[in-house]
Amino acid sequence: MIIFKEIDALQSFLAGKDEIGFVPTMGALHTGHLTLLQESLKHSKLTICSIFVNPTQFNDPRDFEKYPITLEKDIELLTNAGVDAVFVPTVATIYPAGLNKLETYPLGSLEKLWEGSYRPGHFQGVCQVVSRLLDAVQPHKIYMGQKDFQQCMVIKKLIELKNISTELIQVATVRETSGLAMSSRNMRLSATEKTTAVTISQVLDYLRDHINILPISLLLQEAQNRLMQAGFKVDYVGIADASTLEPIVQIDPKRDAVAMIAAYLNEVRLIDNKLIYTALQ
Ligand code: AMP
Repeated sequence: MIIFKEIDALQSFLAGKDEIGFVPTMGALHTGHLTLLQESLKHSKLTICSIFVNPTQFNDPRDFEKYPITLEKDIELLTNAGVDAVFVPTVATIYPAGLNKLETYPLGSLEKLWEGSYRPGHFQGVCQVVSRLLDAVQPHKIYMGQKDFQQCMVIKKLIELKNISTELIQVATVRETSGLAMSSRNMRLSATEKTTAVTISQVLDYLRDHINILPISLLLQEAQNRLMQAGFKVDYVGIADASTLEPIVQIDPKRDAVAMIAAYLNEVRLIDNKLIYTALQ
C-alpha cells in the first residue's frame, strides 16, 4: 500500500486510472470502516482511503483534542485489507488558505436538523473536507456509512452542488454482537460504559418494534426515559421522514421513517439510527 501525504503525488498516481473507490475516514479504524473498504475493493479497481481528523467539523474543541489517533495500527489494517493507497494529509494540505476563510455550502434545512442543531457548523466542516478530498481523488464512487445517516444525505447534496459524477454508495451500519454501533469514539468508553452504551441500539429496536402500536409522542417519551435511566444525557431522540429528515408525529404508510439518537455517556457523545418503518409498496 502506498502512503500519500501530498495531493500532487496522489494525483500523479491516480492519473488515468478508472473505477476509483474512495473511503474518507478520520482514522482509529474499526470493522465498520473496513466494511466500507471491502465494499470498495469488491466493486472498484482501485481503493483509496483517507485519514484526516478534520478540525473544521468539530464544534467542541475538547472532542477534537480527544479524538483517538492510531495511525500505525490503521496503516497495518489497511495494508492487510489490500487497500491500494492511503491519503494522510496535514491540515495545511487540506486548507492551504488557513481556517479563517472557508467555503460555505447551501445545505438548507439539512444542516439545521438533528446533528446540525446540536453541532452548529458541523456539516459545513464535513462539506469543506469532503469537497477538497473529492477534488483531490476524483473517485467514481465514494463509500459512506449509514451510521451517519444525516451525513450521507449531506454528501449526496454536496455531490449535487458540485455537479460531479461521483456516486455515493451507502453502507449499512456495522454493529458489535451486542448491537452497539461500531465507532471510533467507543475506544473512549470503559468496559462498563460499553455495556451501558448498548441501550442506544436497544431503544432504537424498541421504537421499531412499537411504531405501529403506540403514538410517536409516547414512544419518544419512553425512549427518552430509558436513555436517561441508563445514565445518558440525551441531545435528541426522534423519528424522522427518511428522505427529508423532518421530524414526524405519525407514520405515513407511503414513506420510510428513521429513528435517530445522539446522547452523551459521561464525556463521550454517541450517535446511532435505524430505519424503523419501510413504506408499503
Ligand atoms: P469516521 O472515521 O467516523 O469519520 O467514519 C468514516 C466513515 O465510516 C463514515 O462514512 C462513517 O459513516 C463510516 N462508519 C463509521 N462507523 C461505521 C459503522 N459502524 N458502520 C458502517 N459505517 C461506519
